[in-house]
Formats: sequence, structure tokens, C-alpha cells
Amino acid sequence: MSDSDPDTETGTAGDESNALRTPIVAVLGHVDHGKTTLLDKIRGSTVTEGEAGAITQHIGATAVPLETISEMAGSLVNPDDFDLPGLLYIDTPGHHSFSTLRSRGGALADIAVLVIDVNDGFQPQTLEAVDILKRTQTPFIVAANKVDTVPGWNPNEGEPIQQSIEQQSDRVEGDLNDRLYKIIGQLSDEGFSADMYWRVQNFQKNIGVVPVSAMTAEGVPDLLTVLMGLSQRYMKEEMAIDVQGPGAGTVLEVKDTQGFGTTVDAVLYDGTIRADDEIIVGGLNAPITTEVRALLQPRPLAEIRTEKQFEKVDEVSAAAGVKIAAPDLDDAMAGAPIRVVRNRNKDEVVAEVEKELAEIEVRTEEQGVIVKADTLGSLEAIASTLDESEIPIVRAEVGDVAPRDIRVAETAAEDKHKAILAFSVDILDDAEKLAKQEGVRIFEHDVIYRLIEEYEEHVEAIEQSQQ
Ligand code: GDP
Repeated sequence: MSDSDPDTETGTAGDESNALRTPIVAVLGHVDHGKTTLLDKIRGSTVTEGEAGAITQHIGATAVPLETISEMAGSLVNPDDFDLPGLLYIDTPGHHSFSTLRSRGGALADIAVLVIDVNDGFQPQTLEAVDILKRTQTPFIVAANKVDTVPGWNPNEGEPIQQSIEQQSDRVEGDLNDRLYKIIGQLSDEGFSADMYWRVQNFQKNIGVVPVSAMTAEGVPDLLTVLMGLSQRYMKEEMAIDVQGPGAGTVLEVKDTQGFGTTVDAVLYDGTIRADDEIIVGGLNAPITTEVRALLQPRPLAEIRTEKQFEKVDEVSAAAGVKIAAPDLDDAMAGAPIRVVRNRNKDEVVAEVEKELAEIEVRTEEQGVIVKADTLGSLEAIASTLDESEIPIVRAEVGDVAPRDIRVAETAAEDKHKAILAFSVDILDDAEKLAKQEGVRIFEHDVIYRLIEEYEEHVEAIEQSQQ
């Protein structure tokens, strides 16, 4: 495909089977640093119902087309310079969903936005996010958020920010620059060379920092421009897909959908899925082979109030989010691969799914704690954090805490290993009772560092009592 090919779209399939798909963007950062507000702002300011170039709401994601980005960014973006169709934002921010969205041993998201509150700088979850970005080698930029709260800042709602910073530099010199350079320094402590985005020449080597206010949307045009430019420049080749080929994606969530039973919400990053395709989905015990019963997408916003929430579609092409209704999905796992069989050899596709599941490596020891998590990705993230803290794992699994977990924990030689770390999962009643009886401690949290902190405090208490 030539650089100037204008017929590249997402979501629709033309005659041509090769096309450039939308890069997938995820938003990470510490709690309350403004991830949700930023995503809402990107969505909100681009919702122009019914007009061409309006955003499209997918399952679990929002597609913002190039035309909309160039409208927002004004002179910053000339659409003629781009042939990628826009950006697909994962709607659920945070590294929990980010690590769920894995593919082929890496991250599903092509780029990440790390949101950092300018007043607050690096916080525990910022570090956690940075670790995950490093581990998955995901390129990212930093949104230095809440500039509107910096003393002396004169906001320009919805406007690009670079010039404003230069113009206001006298007024906010110490306040804003100190904060921004502190973040740049903290990134450097983590091994990244970072700078204000307009000084970055090579975004593969350096991290661009974009000052923004998710509240007033100031700097949001710059943010979208940098994301678009970065993907166009460094990711174009990875975005080339065989649109009509059998689809590949990742399960985002497994849930009941009224009228359809158990369904999976999936993000497709390659090819097409059709309403009559046979599919293989990663399951708790083994890959599941099933046939699509219906493909569902959200109805346009205006209709949602009056009619059913979803509409059936015949096919969906990457990159896109889609709800898939099919029999036998009860054991499907969030974070597991999903593949369309179509004209491929079914055994090969099953083997591919098995191989991808096996890539999730958790090193286990003879003695250690038990980890239960809701998705493969979070299991991976916890295992790697425990590894860094030198806490051994005896068993790691996706699923609720069940009585058999307690039985395994109970046999541990050391008291500190009679423990279960439960991340975003339920504890079955029987398991809870048994744990009390057998003196097994269950730690529950949906923030990784808190979960590990609580466990470490427990270990300390045991050690002190033994002294
Ligand atoms: P999240 O936990 O990272 O998703 O953070 P939220 O988006 O929920 O934001 C946390 C709080 O910070 C909310 O009260 C937001 O209104 C506020 N907030 C987010 N971004 C900004 C901003 O740019 N400026 C100001 N003043 N407040 C913000």
C-alpha cells in the first residue's frame, strides 16, 4: 500500500483487503490523576451526533476518526499528512484493564497515555503503570494533567497549549515548570529520557510530556496530535492488516447480556469477524470451539434511551470492540485470545490459542503464596510484582478463591505461606469458612500494590511475633 492511499478506513471493508487499522490507545495512571475525565473529554468534545467524522462508540472502546482529531487540533494537524484512520481508545482506564488486554505475550494497546497529576507527580500506581509499560514494551506519552490548578495559570479552554506555556512562562515559571521538570526527573529515575513534547525529536527514544487539563480540554489538541503523529511515524507498518482475513482479538470481559446468555466483549486487532464464523476462545480449562450466534455493537447514543441497547451487525473489522454472543462461553477468560477459524485449519487455530495461553508465565516454587486473579493479564502483573518483592508463588490461577485453594495453602510449611492473595475475585463461602478453620489468611484488593503491602505487613507481624 502506498503512503498516499486515501481508502483506508476502519470498521468497514472495501474491496481491497489490505488496509491500515486504527492504533489502539490505553490510558493509565494513579487513581484520581484524571484518566476518566480525560477520556470523557476526548469523547465529549468529539461527539457530534450523526455528522460525518463523528466518533463511533464500540463495545469497550471509542473510535475517534482522523477528521475529528484534525478539527480539534486545528492547524496542528493536516489530515493529508496521515493515512492512519484515527485512534481507538479503550474506554476502561487503568492498568488493570491494560494488563487484561494482552495479545501475543505483549500488550494489546499500541500506545499508552500515562496520566500524571502535575501537583502530585509520581505515585504508587504511576510506578506500577510504568513497570507494566516497560515489561510490555509499550510506547507511551505522558499527559501532565490539571495544569488549570497551577497558581497563576490563565486557561484557554480547548486550545493547544504549547504557545500558551511560552507566553505565560513569566507568570507561572516556577509553579508550572518546577512541576513539569519534577515529572521529567521522575521519569528519568525510571530510566526514561523525557522532555516537553515539542522538544522531542524521536518519540521512540524519548518520552514526550504533554501538559493538559482534562477539565478545560486545554492541551487535549496537542495530546491527540502527538498520539496521531507518533503512530503515523513509528507504527504504520504494524497497522497494516489483511482486513478480510480471519479475525484475531482479545477477550475484554465475559458477561451475561439480556437475551443472549453469556457473551464476551472483545477487542479485535486483526482481520474480520462475521456473524456466522466459527471461533476459538481461550477458556479456563481448554480452548472453547463455538459458533458466533450474533455480533453486537452499541446503538448510536440518541437511540439508546428508547430502544434496545445493542444492534446486530453482520461483520466487524479491526481495530474494533464487539460483543460476541455464542454458545458455551461460560468458561471464557478475560485476557484470553479469540480467533476466527473461517478458511483456516481448525487444529492449527486451537494450537495457536493454546500456545498464547501458555505464554503466560508465572514462575512457581515449591513453597510460596497462592495468587488468584480475575484475568490472565492481572495474574501476570501480580506475579511480576511479587517476583520483584521476592515473594515466592506456589500456585497462580484465574478464578474465585475456592476450598481447594485453602487446602493447598494449609499444607504450607511456613506460616507466612499459608496465604492467598486474591485480586478482584470473589471468595466462595465454603472457602472463607475453611480458611478460618485452617488458619489460612486471605488478602483481597483490586490495587496490586495495596494487596502486596497488606501481605507484607502480615509477614512482618509474624516475624516480629517469632522474635
Ligand atoms: P481517575 O481516577 O484517574 O480516573 O481520575 P478522575 O478522572 O476521576 O479525576 C479525579 C478528580 O480530579 C475528579 O474530581 C476530576 O474532576 C478531577 N480532575 C481531573 N482532571 C482534572 C483537571 O485537569 N483539572 C482539575 N481541576 N480537576 C481535574
